[in-house]
Amino acid sequence: MANFFNKNTPFHIEKSAKADILLCKECNAAYWYKAWHHSLDDHPNLEEDRNVKMVICPACKMQDEGKYLGELILENIPSDRNEEIKNLVANFGDISFKNDPMARMITIDEIARGMIRATVTQGQMISQLAKKIKKVYKSKVNFIHSKRDAIIRIRIVFP
Ligand SMILES: [Zn+2]
Repeated sequence: MANFFNKNTPFHIEKSAKADILLCKECNAAYWYKAWHHSLDDHPNLEEDRNVKMVICPACKMQDEGKYLGELILENIPSDRNEEIKNLVANFGDISFKNDPMARMITIDEIARGMIRATVTQGQMISQLAKKIKKVYKSKVNFIHSKRDAIIRIRIVFP
């Protein structure tokens, strides 16, 4: 990761809201043209003078505060499938993050025997992951809707 803030760079670090680019000080994700990107290195046009504002991105903020927007509970996982399913969940997290720096797997925990709980930064990730698991393992999927918060919770019980 290059240091963008040495004296040879054209950036100003702006405190005002009128920044061209937001840069997360925790993960280096950068926001421009209405989308988050993995790093400022991906910016197509950095030659121009840019106002950069240092922030904490929404995904880091969520992780810092111990929050999440999607939760998946997997139950009754056959012991010979445990590792495989954990890997599937982790790989899904890696792919999501690769496509969108704000789409992150926050935790994958074995909370009991045959039971895994995963939390993510975006509710739609949980829906996609549940769909995938349902398709691969032909398991029963229960959506748990909660009106009191915006969190998407899905429970999957293995046959
Ligand atoms: Zn961040």
